[in-house]
Amino acid sequence: MKTLTLTNRQVHNGNLILVNSTHRLLKQTTSELVPTALQSGTLLQRQAAALLNSLMQQIDGWKYIVPVSGWRSFSEQQQIWDDSLKENGMEFTQTYVAVPGHSEHQTGLAIDLALKQEHIDFICPEFPYDGICQKFRMLAPAYGFIERYPKGAEMITGIGHEPWHFRYVGVPHAQIITENGLVLESYMDFIKNYEYGFKPYITTVDNCELYVSYLPASGVSGTRVMIDDSMLYSISGNNIDGFIMTEWRCTHENKPGLKWA
Ligand SMILES: [Zn+2]
Repeated sequence: MKTLTLTNRQVHNGNLILVNSTHRLLKQTTSELVPTALQSGTLLQRQAAALLNSLMQQIDGWKYIVPVSGWRSFSEQQQIWDDSLKENGMEFTQTYVAVPGHSEHQTGLAIDLALKQEHIDFICPEFPYDGICQKFRMLAPAYGFIERYPKGAEMITGIGHEPWHFRYVGVPHAQIITENGLVLESYMDFIKNYEYGFKPYITTVDNCELYVSYLPASGVSGTRVMIDDSMLYSISGNNIDGFIMTEWRCTHENKPGLKWA
């Protein structure tokens, strides 16, 4: 066992941070951004880009699908907001464009995808529920991606139905969210039922047993936690009040590879 101290800043870092109209992104992401597809100007955080590419490889996806928008700086998000306001008005803009500082695109963990065709709408690209796009959608959770703004969840997410917007949250969180019909907002409440050290949420990925649990941030000097260091583990802040801990119990023959982070 070893003891880790998680700082209060770490609450606002990691693959699972919730960024929406009430939870602002505190730190601008600039490091570890890489192009998503070959010769693409669309950037994502390194691990999200690697898993997106391996999913696309599996379905030969980059032949038919194009990245429309990945990481955005604060000023780019401001520009998109201003342009949309001018062109489409307030109601449309509030439905489909996040207020600067509150866009998932600023995390480098979100991507808008479009079916490759002559005309592509930048704000509402076409990504239908059939063909290659649906094939992508069905496989996305196994690679750590969720369709972030599904139909019917507009009241919870605060964003209109966006079939084209995918968010990297990592494995196994994307599967847990999808299998339980959750969105990232409700997952944050769901996982609080599984407090670290008591009762984890247990699931299986690639023959590894995974324990997921919530750890509340405590104290001004950080949160101390005892970790079984014989296990692979990852910790992400939730950008609200604590951390989500993921522990992987794998056999030697079954290393989770890329999916572990
Ligand atoms: Zn988007």
